[in-house]
Order: sequence, then structure tokens, then C-alpha cells
Amino acid sequence: MPDGYETVVGLEVHCELSTRTKLFCGCENSFGAAPNSQVCPVCLGLPGSLPVLNRRAVELAIRIGQALGCEIRPSVFHRKNYFYPDMPKDYQISQYDLPVNVNGHLDLPDGSVVGIERAHIEEDTGKSTHIGATGRIKGASHSLVDYNRAGVPLVEIVSAPDIRSAAQARSYVSELRRVLVAAGASDGRMEEGSLRVDANVSVRPDGSTTFGTRCEVKNLNSFRSLVRSIEYESKRQVALLEAGEAILQETRHFDESSGETHSLRSKEEAYDYRYFPEPDLVPLEPDEALLRAAAVGAGLMPGERRRLLWEAIGASLEEHASGALADQIETVIDLELDRLVVDAVAAGADGRLALARAANEAAANPESARSLGAGSFAALLQLESSGSLSATQSKAVLTVLTEEGGDPSEIAARLGFEGLGDAEIEELIDGVVAAHPEEWSRYLEGDGKVAGFLLGRIMRESKGRANGKVVSTKLAERRSRA
Ligand code: ADP
Ligand code: MG
Ligand code: ZN
Repeated sequence: MPDGYETVVGLEVHCELSTRTKLFCGCENSFGAAPNSQVCPVCLGLPGSLPVLNRRAVELAIRIGQALGCEIRPSVFHRKNYFYPDMPKDYQISQYDLPVNVNGHLDLPDGSVVGIERAHIEEDTGKSTHIGATGRIKGASHSLVDYNRAGVPLVEIVSAPDIRSAAQARSYVSELRRVLVAAGASDGRMEEGSLRVDANVSVRPDGSTTFGTRCEVKNLNSFRSLVRSIEYESKRQVALLEAGEAILQETRHFDESSGETHSLRSKEEAYDYRYFPEPDLVPLEPDEALLRAAAVGAGLMPGERRRLLWEAIGASLEEHASGALADQIETVIDLELDRLVVDAVAAGADGRLALARAANEAAANPESARSLGAGSFAALLQLESSGSLSATQSKAVLTVLTEEGGDPSEIAARLGFEGLGDAEIEELIDGVVAAHPEEWSRYLEGDGKVAGFLLGRIMRESKGRANGKVVSTKLAERRSRA
């Protein structure tokens, strides 16, 4: 961001709900079927067909509202009228001024809070594919349309303009994605279009208390595009302001190949959607029973899972503040390995070791690692903590354990890891000391840098069988005796 300016971002995230059927008909809601194979008179908008609201979609929408701390209110469906070939009814059923969820918030891992203005229910459109060099409608020879997605239930989550950087926008979408997956409302697959983001971006001089004019960048379907488009758009707007020009409120498209945004339409050309209440659907008034039904089946939210992990590893306040373990924590949460760590600690494993092994080694094969019993994971970690296995050996056992299951001590024996006895380690140290007398005397004089060198030599001589911690302790003992 250029000096002297601040970016302001508000995000609109469209989330496809993982229901079995569509929002207003019984057609299957799934990704990847043959084009136009999951359609019926309702989702094709044929005359005389009538919508019937999918109860499961309403439950999941309310569950999203609950997860985001929203107020859940009676709501009304509206028709949003516009013509587009992928929307055969010529209107989209959406919620307008009376959405089901309002006034929530999303807490980000760094402690910042982003307000949620609303999270409303609407139907998805079909999908057009433009055949031509660029894949854009301009210059295409012809277009194809697939209505399988028409009528798929969506919840559109609209944030307040509380986001202040591209990095925070990224963090917001990742955390929202985790919440939606934990709620069981979405599969979170951005690459399949399950989550699509529109970014509203404006800039203002540092210290300004009013917002600048915003531009809306449509249809960002990856984290990379989200970050690049916000960065590009911020710079473009600052350059305009610096040149004394005004920013026009407009809708823009992000071009992934050039990394630039281009104008699609200005505010003056904005659609007049002629919203009016959908006459074929009654207002939705959630009662206590529906609110309870919605809450059943929601999993633990990421904030709570993070708290359990910090607690399990017994991190200090300084570690929280420095964020030293934060990357490992986010990795195990994203790979759904947090339960394994928490349970292994409850079964007696060292928390930090459990976290490190889960975030680094188990992460290589998360699918299998998820079905690893916490008991055998804990047993392996104890072999390592007690010095019976070196770190290298422990990692090798973990690989086998994750792939085949079984008993860690038996696997260790099978791999020939007897662990080195005290006498053998002393012998290795003697050898390295004799081979490097100069480094050894520097070590004895208190040169901290040479300790790593000696340790490395000894570990190499042991072919990874020595336990690093034990070797370090022995080296320190020799020094204090010298
Ligand atoms: P619309 O109906 O045109 O989509 P909304 O008022 O619903 O407009 O706002 C849409 C999004 O734009 C929200 O996410 C909001 O946070 C964001 N937004 C509003 N004003 C600004 C601004 N000045 N800069 C950045 N984002 C903004
Ligand atoms: Mg909008
Ligand atoms: Zn249908």
C-alpha cells in the first residue's frame, strides 16, 4: 500500500450450501454431473412451475447465522429481476431488505473482529461457458449454458467495511471458510466454486474518518486472486487520487493473467432490479423448534478448537503474543488433526511435540493421520520424549504407523531402532571430540555457536539413532565437569 493511504475492504461471500437437493425443487445438488442432467421445470423456470422451499437449506442458513453470532429474524423472499441467459426465470429469488441473519461478527485468529452486516438465502444461477480465445463473452464465437447449478442454495455473507488490508481479507475468507465447513454448511471447495468472493475496495488518506468511493471486484475464486485484486485496486485508486482525479463507483472484473482489474459497468449503468416480494413463497418465520434443529449437528468452531489446542500445549502468554506456534496450530486445524493432538496430550503426550509431529510429519498424509488412534500416537511420542527413540527414528516410525497402524514399539523394533545406550553415546562423543580438538576447546570456553556443529557431527556419526536432547545434555555435563 502506498504511504499515507489506507485500504478499506468489505467482502461479499457466496457460499453454496451442501444440501442433497436444490433450494426450490427436488433436483440433486452436486458438482460435476453431465451438463443439464440435473434440471426440472422449476429450476428451468418453465411457466406454471412453483417453488417449494428446502427446509434443510433454511436450517443450514440459520446455522451459519448462529455460528456468526447473528440476530436471526423473520425474513421475506424477493424477486430480483434481470435478464441473463444463465437464469431462465429472468429473476433470482433472494432476500432483500428482510434477510434471515443480521448483525453478526467473525473473530479472526489475530484477535481482530470483522462485522457481518447480513447473511441471506438466495438461489444460484446456471453457468455460462463462452467459447473463444479468452473465455470472456467479448470475442466469443458462441456460448454454452449449464443449468445444473441453477437453483442451488446459496447463503451470501456480507461483511461490514471493517477489513483494512489484502492480508486481512485473506485471513477473513480463510476463517469464514473454516466456520462454514465446521458448521457442516459447505464443503468449502473454492476450486469448485463452492465459495465465491466479491471484494468492495476503497482507499482513503491515513487518519481520514470517512470512507472513499468503492469499486466492487466480482467473482474472485481463489485466495491468490483475492489478494492480488485488492492490492491492484488499492494502488490504482491511490494513483487516481494522487493525480487529482475522482474515483467512479463501478463494478470491475479481475483478469488473472494480467493481474489487473477492468471496468464492467459504472453506477449509472447499474441494474434496477425492481425487487418485489416473491408471491409464490410465504414469509419465513423461524420458531424455537427450527432454531434448535438448525443448531444440531454443528461441529466445534475454529476459535474454540484453537483455544483447546493452546490449552493442550500449555502455551505461555508470550507465545500467544509472538505467534510462534500459530502456523503449526493453523496447519493442524486446517488438516483436521487438532482432535488427534488434543487427545494425544490427554493420553500423556508432550503437547509441543504432539503439535510439531502433527503439523510437520502427520500433515504429509492427513487422511490416514486422522484415523490414527490418539493412544498409539501418544505412545510413540512418549518413546521419543523419554529418549528411547531419536527424532529421526520417531518420524520413521510415525510414517509406518500412519500408513499401516499397529504398535509403535513393535514398529520401532521391526525397523531395528533399539535406540543407543548411554555407553554407545559416550563413545560417539569421545570420537567426535578427538576428531575436532579445536572446536571442542572453543566449546569448553563457552562458544555457544560451536555446540550445534558438535551436535551435528555426533548425530551424523550415530546415523540418526542418537537422541539429540540426550546428546546435548551429555555435552553440557562434560563442559561443567571440565
Ligand atoms: P450493494 O447493495 O451495492 O452491494 P452494500 O451496502 O450492501 O451495497 O455493500 C456491499 C459491500 O460493500 C459490503 O460488504 C460493505 O461492507 C462494502 N462497502 C460499503 N462501503 C464501502 C467502502 N466505502 N469501501 C469498501 N467497502 C465498502
Ligand atoms: Mg453487492
Ligand atoms: Zn429442479
